[in-house]
Amino acid sequence: MPLLPRVFTLVIAVILLFVPPLATAGTPEPAPVTAAELKIFQLKHQDVIAIAFETCLRTASVPDPLTFKLEPKFHVNQQNGLITITAAAQPALPELNGQTCFVQTISSIRLQQLTVQAPTPGQLTLTVAYNSRTAKPRITTVKRKRVNQPDNTTVYRTYLVLKFAGIQAGSPPKTIVIDPGHGGNDLGAASNYLYEKELNLDIALLSCDIFRQHGYDVYMTRTSDTRPGLLDRADAANILEADAFISIHNNSMPDNMPAPARKLYRGTTVLYNAAAPKPAKELAAIMADELSGALRIHQYPLQDRPGLVVLNSTWVPAVLAEVAMMPHPQDAKMISQRVYRLEAAQAIVQATEKYFKIAALATGRH
Ligand SMILES: [Zn+2]
Repeated sequence: MPLLPRVFTLVIAVILLFVPPLATAGTPEPAPVTAAELKIFQLKHQDVIAIAFETCLRTASVPDPLTFKLEPKFHVNQQNGLITITAAAQPALPELNGQTCFVQTISSIRLQQLTVQAPTPGQLTLTVAYNSRTAKPRITTVKRKRVNQPDNTTVYRTYLVLKFAGIQAGSPPKTIVIDPGHGGNDLGAASNYLYEKELNLDIALLSCDIFRQHGYDVYMTRTSDTRPGLLDRADAANILEADAFISIHNNSMPDNMPAPARKLYRGTTVLYNAAAPKPAKELAAIMADELSGALRIHQYPLQDRPGLVVLNSTWVPAVLAEVAMMPHPQDAKMISQRVYRLEAAQAIVQATEKYFKIAALATGRH
């Protein structure tokens, strides 16, 4: 080969050595996957353990952010009432607290013990001892809606979910997730000496009791004055594959509205998201009817609210009930009395049961 082409080839080879290869189309640059959070749900008819796997990517590096999904890599081993999952992830669970192992006893008729080990920085092992006579394990994955951050990165989260459903005859009961709006330092609306967060929680607890009396499996996103994140509230419904997610609120008028005008409006309304994977306009309509009938108050038109996190991040039928209008003196007086909050709770349960009946008729399941 003449000298010039040989030098040319050498120069090209040296350039290629230092130029990073172009990212393959459709595959974002590799980023570490972290095991970020452990969630345990203990319901009457099932125990559910979920581990959140997360990755943070530069938004511009994801060729198709709408379809990109974080698929955790894991291996399952199951024998003699022990299920072990080994996953490739950086262990960042707060429970590990710098250690390589933690053990949690779970008191349930189905589960005995959960052990999490992080033998190497890139591996996480989860072992659950369960009672194979009372429970049957099932593994699924559940995605959270991606979160775009101000620093032009996007966080993707996928839960690895271990479900231990009770072994029983007949079909399992339906699962309801009840979400009392606001909580903690988020008061919600404040009018007529009432805090919305407290009214919401009381109506939610009353609804929970009635649902349980009727045989449903119920999970509450909060049972006291705490403030769970909005995505965590939606995640609970998605992880539990709930048959309905019901967020309970009370309404207010904009603060910038003149005070006399704020007191003009009273009544109930229910919000839904028509663009959701499982839109629940029908449940919203039935619930608005039941609430306005039970409380004998006016009903406002249903609101399609795709911008609300609890309605656009839930993959199950989801509604948000605005039970009463807090600035209105008569609505405020009514909802301040527990007997009316009980009426509201009964209406919420009745509406949900009617909705299930109609849905069963529509699919031919009686
Ligand atoms: Zn609210």
